[in-house]
Amino acid sequence: MRVQSLNAPTHEEITNLMTNESFDMVVVGCGAGGLSAALGFLEESAERGVSPSVAIVERSTEADRGGATRWSWVNVMVDPDGTVDPAIMERVLDSDPAYDREYFSLLRKLGHESVDWMKANGVSVSHAAPPFAMESNYGAVEGGGLSLIEAFAARIEGHTGSRFLYQTEAVRLTQDDQGRVSGVVVRDADGLTRTLAAKKVVLASGGFEGNYEMLTQYVGPRANEIRPVAPGLKYNRGDGLRMVTEIGGSTAGQFDMLHVELVDPRSTKPDPGVFGAPYGLMVNADAERFIDEGSRTFEGLNEKLAWTVWRDHDNLAYFVYDAETEALPGFEFLNQTDVPPFEGDTIEELAAAMNIDAAKFSATIHEFNKAVQEGEFDPSRPDGKCTNGLAIEKSNWARPIQQPPFKAVPGSAAITFCFGGVRTDTRARVVTGNGTPIPNLYAAGVLTGVWYQEYPGALSVLRSVTFGRIAGREAANDLFI
Ligand SMILES: Cc1cc2nc3c(=O)[nH]c(=O)nc-3n(C[C@H](O)[C@H](O)[C@H](O)COP(=O)(O)OP(=O)(O)OC[C@H]3O[C@@H](n4cnc5c(N)ncnc54)[C@H](O)[C@@H]3O)c2cc1C
Repeated sequence: MRVQSLNAPTHEEITNLMTNESFDMVVVGCGAGGLSAALGFLEESAERGVSPSVAIVERSTEADRGGATRWSWVNVMVDPDGTVDPAIMERVLDSDPAYDREYFSLLRKLGHESVDWMKANGVSVSHAAPPFAMESNYGAVEGGGLSLIEAFAARIEGHTGSRFLYQTEAVRLTQDDQGRVSGVVVRDADGLTRTLAAKKVVLASGGFEGNYEMLTQYVGPRANEIRPVAPGLKYNRGDGLRMVTEIGGSTAGQFDMLHVELVDPRSTKPDPGVFGAPYGLMVNADAERFIDEGSRTFEGLNEKLAWTVWRDHDNLAYFVYDAETEALPGFEFLNQTDVPPFEGDTIEELAAAMNIDAAKFSATIHEFNKAVQEGEFDPSRPDGKCTNGLAIEKSNWARPIQQPPFKAVPGSAAITFCFGGVRTDTRARVVTGNGTPIPNLYAAGVLTGVWYQEYPGALSVLRSVTFGRIAGREAANDLFI
């Protein structure tokens, strides 16, 4: 009988011993969630007199770092006093019983503190709103998501124990023989893997926005028509979700729903948003209206509009407007494409440029114009200026399309983030189906599934920062009592 020594290391184990490293914390993902976790951990540890070691594992190059966050406008749903709008939150929470009320009441409570923390870490937040009706008071990060990424990364780089590992992708989690997470297997740019041992692991690797296989699996046929709204999303391939479920972690959020927005499909620029519907008309490729364009404000309507265009209209519709609409102060904010609109001096000429049925289009516009009621048009509030007598009425901001030149911009749905993801508790710990935390494992940002039915806008970065920071602080509390 051949007897093998129990202690003899294999070749793989020897290679691992030579290349592996060990950290107090490994964070996967260099977006708002991951950077907030790393920074929260470093700050909380420093308060306890500890200078821990942290590795931030990031799939992209350094030049491209920041995931979706890098491309984000970073509107945050707080008013100038720092209050997270309670009415909007309640409306959203009431829309589906699956919502995690504890999570959102904590977000509401900590929203103010999170914005102050962003400011304390070099991020400027201002409160200049566009001149159009909005459902809530928003603050906006000056310089957008890139400025947040640069500010937070600079703070982290200022801590001696921190390291950014770019072009390094997390492949799977390691566990000890009792199920505690003990590290992350990563793959470097040369294709070789190694294990980063870690006392704590935070996953903040976004959703599956850049993975068409998973989008099709969860959202269904034709999900591949929904392109990413910005380049950073291509790195988010559902790895965090896979790694968590592989070790028994649970999921939450509505997997067959995405946050989408309407963009110009002709454009190759990031986020060529088409937001003007409330102040003009939408028609599909059959030249028919299909939605009450004035039912919500531009940011309130956009997700539903884009989803409807994808689901019911072969992912193509047109925002139609005239010279009067184009003259609205701030119109360029509503129409962010870099490709010129289709144009005509008559409705028929515009139809020809759009390549749609001119007679049908002309009838749709004529019928709409006839139905417009008297009233004072005011783009800054729901003005009640509506239509009367149409199969699909327009509830606000209805004005006839009558001043040439007539214009149209095509719109298709593009994905901003997934609704479904992994399940966490209010301490940002990843939990199993019965709510038991998996020891040493935390998650934050879009990877954590929280949304059902509707995303109200301006809460994704805020929640990524808030719960990323919670993950970092919780981990430090646990390690350095
Ligand atoms: C154009 C645009 C506008 C937006 N506007 C707003 C807004 O105004 N307000 C708002 O609140 N939200 C907005 N959002 C949404 C918001 O920006 C994101 O939902 C949020 O920033 C996501 O942060 P995150 O940290 O979860 O993910 P991300 O920022 O996407 O970071 C995830 C990171 O993980 C990395 N990664 C993925 N897999 C791996 C792996 N296996 N190994 C290593 N690294 C990996 C990725 O490369 C990426 O850097 C917008 C998004 C876009 C694209």
